[in-house]
Amino acid sequence: MSAPRILIVGGVAGGASCAARLRRIDESAEIVVFERGPYVSYANCGIPYHIGGVIEPESKLLVATPELFRTRFRIEIRTGHEVTGIDPAARTIAVRNLATGAVSSERYDALVLSPGAVPVKPPLPGLDLPGVFTVRTIPDARLIRAWIAERGARRAVVVGGGFIGLEMIENLRQLGLEVTLVEMLPQVMPPMDPEMVAPLHAALREHGVRLALGDGLASITPEEGQTLGVRTASGAVHPADLVILAIGVRPDTTLAKAAGLALGERGGIRVDAQMRTSDPHIWAVGDAVEVVDRVTGLPTLLALAGPANRQGRVAADAICGRPTRFGGVQGTAVCGLFGRTVAATGQSEKALRRAGRTDFGVVYLHPNNHAGYYPGAARVSLKLVYRIPDGRVLGAQAVGTDGVEKRIDAIATAMQFGATVFDLEESELCYAPQFGSAKDPVNLAGMIAANALRGDLPVTPWEEVGRAWVLDVRDADEFAEGTLPGARNIPLAELRDRLSELPAGGPIDVLCGTGLRSYNAVRLLRQRGFDARNLAGGYATWEMRRGL
Ligand code: FAD
Repeated sequence: MSAPRILIVGGVAGGASCAARLRRIDESAEIVVFERGPYVSYANCGIPYHIGGVIEPESKLLVATPELFRTRFRIEIRTGHEVTGIDPAARTIAVRNLATGAVSSERYDALVLSPGAVPVKPPLPGLDLPGVFTVRTIPDARLIRAWIAERGARRAVVVGGGFIGLEMIENLRQLGLEVTLVEMLPQVMPPMDPEMVAPLHAALREHGVRLALGDGLASITPEEGQTLGVRTASGAVHPADLVILAIGVRPDTTLAKAAGLALGERGGIRVDAQMRTSDPHIWAVGDAVEVVDRVTGLPTLLALAGPANRQGRVAADAICGRPTRFGGVQGTAVCGLFGRTVAATGQSEKALRRAGRTDFGVVYLHPNNHAGYYPGAARVSLKLVYRIPDGRVLGAQAVGTDGVEKRIDAIATAMQFGATVFDLEESELCYAPQFGSAKDPVNLAGMIAANALRGDLPVTPWEEVGRAWVLDVRDADEFAEGTLPGARNIPLAELRDRLSELPAGGPIDVLCGTGLRSYNAVRLLRQRGFDARNLAGGYATWEMRRGL
């Protein structure tokens, strides 16, 4: 039997990892990668930091070169070659050499599509004006850097507060530009719950970024003196020397659609668990495909590098006849901004509510990233969402300066094995004073949620605050600095002696700084016959919810 001819469209995250894996499994296969851009296997995730001058020189973004693919893997890379069509019946693709214009037809035994995603550009006036950029490729980075340098740009408007928008803001500030963020939603990082990104809003303001939240882009117009005017739905005009559009991406399905491959309900290429499309000889991976959300079981789109790389590997195994499956995604992601880190996995509270679900509970906690007695301890604010009644973990989000993503990674991994909050209670994690605590934040999150499920520590949802008597058990000086509307103060140390001051029948919501003293108070009160509940995460959660 002759060696299989495997063609790959797109040579970056999914395509390059598929190609390398194919070679590791099948030494005989002929593997050819077609990439319309000038580079393969480059770090698009590093592009914002290259624009900001943090990653220099540009060549550091190149993870592997065509030369390396050829010498190390005997994989042929054709950059500057665009695949313009697929003939599934004949098992050929049409390829245009972008330098010469020559078109050729290439036969395949297996075809892998990893064409990525396309930045969303809504049909609004002015989005194609000079000085308006999207951020996707190395050539994009070059254009932006050149524009800033040659025009002496001083003011930038970033449209879109997702992770690419935020990374661009940090890097533009690093270059000394004044930056305004225009975001249609009232919050940055749209997949996350709003209170969990409140610290990012604070960080943006602290670093001089003007926030135009809850105000969508309407148009961009040329203004006097080579500037642009970014007009928003509210009628505001933000002057800019350059505009970064970072309002999301959509799967690039051009080739797949034209070839008659099935698309999914979210608009991505439909694939099975082996990443095979509706055509038995064509596989697809990366930002272009629709995959299953592990938590909801529903189809979803997730444009992230980790899934693209893993899918490339799965497709290679499947093409080579190995048993394999892609288990789905749960949206595990992290973003850094001005020294803060925000990370998430699984479903947010707002996504569950949007889906009409009510079978879940939420806890908040604000422990230190490591033992408080070791210098440099910093708060990690963590939110855990779990299913009622079985405690299955549905999602988690965290924000802080240090140790944020390691907690989310631990919870994400546990979730992939179907963990419950009871499993998180039991998780055995690293501990030494400079790294964590004997009860890690992950354990604590599990314990608080497990206590709620066992009925030891009922939790009042924050939306319901104000319906019950609120008892603040912090010390008088803390109480004096701010509390919930209508709250009464009985410090925990005095509680046993002042029980007569509490309402006998009705529910009591108990508050403290971060939820620990209130936990002790709730346990005390419940054993004395009071219907006491915890306000999870205490005043720190209240401040995050208020600071939106
Ligand atoms: P890509 O890596 O985009 O590769 C697709 C390639 O296919 C492109 O080079 C394109 O030119 C080529 N192509 C398309 N059509 C054709 C055709 N017809 N013929 C030939 N070639 C074609 N993810 C994270 O997880 N963490 C991050 O920190 C992160 N940061 C990011 C920062 C930026 C600025 C960007 C743009 C993305 C970032 N991502 C990040 C997302 C991540 O880069 C993508 O999810 C990942 O690259 C997707 O891999 P892919 O193979 O599907 O597509």
